[in-house]
Amino acid sequence: MTVAVLTGVPGVGKTTVADEANETLAEKDSEYEMVSFGTMMLEVARDEGLVEERDEMRKLPSEEQRRVQEKAGERIAERAEETNIMVDTHCAIKTPEGYLPGLPEWVLRGLEPDVIVLVEADPDEIMFRRLDDETRARDLEATSEIATHQDMNRNAAMSYATLTGATVKIVENPDGGVEEAAEELADALA
Ligand code: ATP
Ligand code: MG
Repeated sequence: MTVAVLTGVPGVGKTTVADEANETLAEKDSEYEMVSFGTMMLEVARDEGLVEERDEMRKLPSEEQRRVQEKAGERIAERAEETNIMVDTHCAIKTPEGYLPGLPEWVLRGLEPDVIVLVEADPDEIMFRRLDDETRARDLEATSEIATHQDMNRNAAMSYATLTGATVKIVENPDGGVEEAAEELADALA
């Protein structure tokens, strides 16, 4: 079955576009199970009795985090033997020390993605989506920073592709364009 990695900067519309694409895919009998990489890491850490709550994850020693990350990738790949999986995760993570690859080599080796999907939009539109979406508390970023973050995501995605042989699919999600974006995503994943 297919393992698709779904990425894009916070608030670009990943969940919105993927949910809509999945409705179309379900009609074609190629539905995807949506998995959040962070939630899978939490599941692994809980099963091993390392943590109880999500917030405790950050306090794990980095070696432990790395091992949990690796196991989460393997667990997703195991699940993908039964069903198509769409993994919601960060491509390049912005930290005070610089951008951090969300999918390091030791995770990619277990995960073996077939396609990496980058959902992108105009940085100004993304800024307003973040401000308008009251259901979430996303960091405030200048449009130039959003643009750089999107650039870094492209760079990270292509290096993940180099390591795994996956393809990189860019899906534009302009204002009011969810339907077209979802159609393009569904076509790429059918
Ligand atoms: P996160 O990474 O934080 O989970 P996300 O990429 O999944 O974010 P969504 O939650 O899908 O983003 O969307 C963020 C907001 O943008 C929502 O309010 C959603 O309705 C809106 N939105 C998404 N796509 C579009 C679009 N094409 N036009 C207008 N609004 C949009
Ligand atoms: Mg989301």
